[in-house]
Amino acid sequence: MTTATPDPAAELSARALNLVNCGVIVLDAAQQIVVWNGWMVPRSGRSAARVRERCLFDVCPELRGSRVEAAVLAALIDDIATNLPHADNGAPFPLRQAGSFDGARIDHAVSVTPFSDGKARFCLIEIRDVSGTVGRERQLLDHAESLRARSYVDGLTGIANRRYFDVAMNRELRRVQRLGGELSLLMMDIDAFKAYNDHFGHQQGDACLAAVAQALAGMLKRPADVSARYGGEEFAAILPDTSGEQARGHANAIRAHIAALALEHAPAANRPYVTLSIGVASFSKERLNEAAGLIDAADKALYAAKRGGRDCVVVDGDPLAP
Ligand code: GH3
Ligand code: MG
Ligand code: MG
Repeated sequence: MTTATPDPAAELSARALNLVNCGVIVLDAAQQIVVWNGWMVPRSGRSAARVRERCLFDVCPELRGSRVEAAVLAALIDDIATNLPHADNGAPFPLRQAGSFDGARIDHAVSVTPFSDGKARFCLIEIRDVSGTVGRERQLLDHAESLRARSYVDGLTGIANRRYFDVAMNRELRRVQRLGGELSLLMMDIDAFKAYNDHFGHQQGDACLAAVAQALAGMLKRPADVSARYGGEEFAAILPDTSGEQARGHANAIRAHIAALALEHAPAANRPYVTLSIGVASFSKERLNEAAGLIDAADKALYAAKRGGRDCVVVDGDPLAP
């Protein structure tokens, strides 16, 4: 018979195991806890002495039926190792930052690896704290999201920019080409805006642009409607499910609303208040079935409105339109 002599290497291994910077659990073939390392103790609130020789799923009943239990069974019965990355599994073990038992759970990844001592099978469960990585990932995603959102918003007026307009225009055109229906486009331009800038200065010109843009956006109520700053003092509105005649009605309401804001204009503008000229064009399968054609037709109608005296609406096809 041999008496157990202290094995310095085994003792060192046990000490090192308690210092490892991740959770280490070893289960025997009956799923009883053999090893519960030092990392686990403050995060689970359970000492090694309290859990040793108890079934893991009695110590942590919420793991029953989880992917951790499936992974343990796969290891102990079928000798299969499993990785459970955080993204797919959240935080299966009830672990919290050391000393905070009512705080948020630690985000963690788990791996389960079978091994044998030559007689029986065991499984090693490693638990890695990924909360730092998850937090950084979340921050990066939030940052990317806000950059993406900002890249579609006009900085001066706060409404959609030209880039967004292009995306929305193509999307709506594809939709109407595929499903049929109606689609109208309004191109709008502030009348005599050069005179406004010359008289009030560029800064007040900017404020005027923002006020007009906000008023315009407030007039378009349906969720699919898009109002955008097309460039300079020009705006555009995309109106899905809207015929040319309905669009004429909306355009006139917008025109009247902007005039009713009664924003004082420059003396050289020959009009008391800031006004808009609006050109309207609508999708047609045969003629205006692409973005360039539709924009061009609305633009031509807009310039007809300018020629017609400004502060008015011209619809593509009207006698005034070219
Ligand atoms: P019309 O009635 O024919 O449209 O005359 P207009 O003076 O508005 O037309 P024009 O295209 O000659 O002038 C547009 C002016 O809009 C000139 C430009 O200084 C001004 N503008 C364009 N973008 C901005 C901007 O971001 N801020 C300010 N303050 N002014 C702008
Ligand atoms: Mg212009
Ligand atoms: Mg103008």
